[in-house]
Amino acid sequence: MHLSGEYMFPCPVCATPLRVKQTKKSKPYVVCDPCGIQIFIRNPTGIAAFNKLVASANREDVWAKLRDIEPRYRLKCPSCGHRFWIEPSLIKTSFFDGSLQGFQCPGKDCGVTVPWEKKR
Ligand SMILES: [Zn+2]
Ligand SMILES: [Zn+2]
Repeated sequence: MHLSGEYMFPCPVCATPLRVKQTKKSKPYVVCDPCGIQIFIRNPTGIAAFNKLVASANREDVWAKLRDIEPRYRLKCPSCGHRFWIEPSLIKTSFFDGSLQGFQCPGKDCGVTVPWEKKR
């Protein structure tokens, strides 16, 4: 995603594309409000590495890939609304034939099995 000269960087927790902002001293930072995360890159080495990372992510259209992948590997719990990435440790299989039933919601006090629906 490269909107009018703006660069995006994913939140390390929720993977939402965040707009890269600049401090008054021209140091890049990103803020994710829902997660309450702020990332400041303060040292020249880090800034150079960060800029390279951001530029390559934007150039290679990582965002389009991420958008493509996300609906397939991310589930939403119908019970508590918790969104989570599927993981082998969350797999629930049928007691009877061992077939894949879905993934267990990792949400607090939830544990509902979210069915695995293959989307086209
Ligand atoms: Zn976030
Ligand atoms: Zn849940």
